[in-house]
Amino acid sequence: MKGNEILALLDEPACEHNHKQKSGCSAPKPGATAGGCAFDGAQITLLPLADVAHLVHGPIGCTGSSWDNRGSRSSGPTLNRLGFTTDLNEQDVIMGRGERRLFHAVRHIVSHYKPAAVFIYNTCVPAMEGDDIEAVCRAAEVAVGVPVIAIDAAGFYGSKNLGNRIAGEVMVKKVIGQRDPAPWPEDYPLAVEHRHNIGLIGEFNIAGEFWNVLPLLDELGIRVLGNLSGDGRFAEIQTMHHAEVNMVVCSRALINVARMLEQRYHIPWFEGSFYGVRAMSEALRALVTLIGDEDLIQRTEAMIAREEAVAEQALAPYRERLRGRKVLLYTGGVKSWSVVSALQDLGMTVVATGTRKSTEEDKQRIRELMGEDALMLDEGNARTLLDVVYRYGADIMIAGGRNMYTAYKARLPFLDINQEREHAFAGYRGIVTLAEQLCLTLESPVWQQSHQSAPWH
Ligand code: SF4
Repeated sequence: MKGNEILALLDEPACEHNHKQKSGCSAPKPGATAGGCAFDGAQITLLPLADVAHLVHGPIGCTGSSWDNRGSRSSGPTLNRLGFTTDLNEQDVIMGRGERRLFHAVRHIVSHYKPAAVFIYNTCVPAMEGDDIEAVCRAAEVAVGVPVIAIDAAGFYGSKNLGNRIAGEVMVKKVIGQRDPAPWPEDYPLAVEHRHNIGLIGEFNIAGEFWNVLPLLDELGIRVLGNLSGDGRFAEIQTMHHAEVNMVVCSRALINVARMLEQRYHIPWFEGSFYGVRAMSEALRALVTLIGDEDLIQRTEAMIAREEAVAEQALAPYRERLRGRKVLLYTGGVKSWSVVSALQDLGMTVVATGTRKSTEEDKQRIRELMGEDALMLDEGNARTLLDVVYRYGADIMIAGGRNMYTAYKARLPFLDINQEREHAFAGYRGIVTLAEQLCLTLESPVWQQSHQSAPWH
């Protein structure tokens, strides 16, 4: 990838940060890739595409860096859970054998695993060597007869965030627009004018949580043509240019995809969240308003009223147990405000929220929910998080897995809200699961015991 292409990706016009700073994302600083390199970001973004073989061209250590560390679920194929690598070693580099190894790896994968496509991820070593992976892709595609696509996001190009965008741009330029969607079933109950196609961007189906939302869309006659990339299939992504509306679920990662699809195919988009009753209803309303079908809008309102009533009833017993409990929330992006609203719906008080990956718009929504004096944490090292816990008397920390031991060492209840989580928190059903998990965590007898003196003292 050329330097000017990387600069163009860093200067994303649709990114909120871009209105404030000279560049949308800062150029990489020494050590920046310790939190995830560009390759890492590209692989995380595309790995949930379940029928694709994801081949990492580089030393085997790169493959292990982010392979399968998200809890994205697939409803069908699981080819994405196999790790493929060319496993370059010193001899390959010295002898210049990288391209040949890559070509043979593609042939081997296609003959043994029959993938819908092969994605080749470039990494630092072959990028510095100058391997022409585009040329290998072209030759391999002719030889094996399935799409072979290069994702040129070597680690030293920049941060994980840049890698997300590179992956998104490759999808727009090389995958989307290649196929028409399958026809609707002949016996589909809704008239043609009330059937609608949408696209989802940045929804990763962690713990299968999108399956809480999908049945509602099905009921409304809304078909998700393609999802980048939770439970995604290569052929579905190829049809995304036929979407009437795109919903961006995680703007930080893939906002460039929404912008490019709007420019190329005139598809309007909005950003929404599926976490919490309020956010879920808002997302459904925003979606159908953009589609602009009056009948659909009325049916959606009826569905929202029904689902909110069911959720309200299911939440009632948990509300009693959670009311007045204080939470330190440390997560990023849309979750920094949408989970606040979900917790407030449960009667809890959020003492502070993390905003490291939040846009200015996210922060404004946090202020609307938590007041002008809302405590926002841009940096969340262990000391800062525990200071906030002690100062505000937080009862529980809700954060990503890397903060789990900070909480446990302080004998503080902890709930994982990020990509490694085990539970599906999205949709109306998800908020009930969240309430249940909060109660189980807070009321575990282990906290009382852990604050007692050891018996031998
Ligand atoms: S791509 Fe580069 S920075 Fe990323 S894991 Fe591999 S060697 Fe490390």
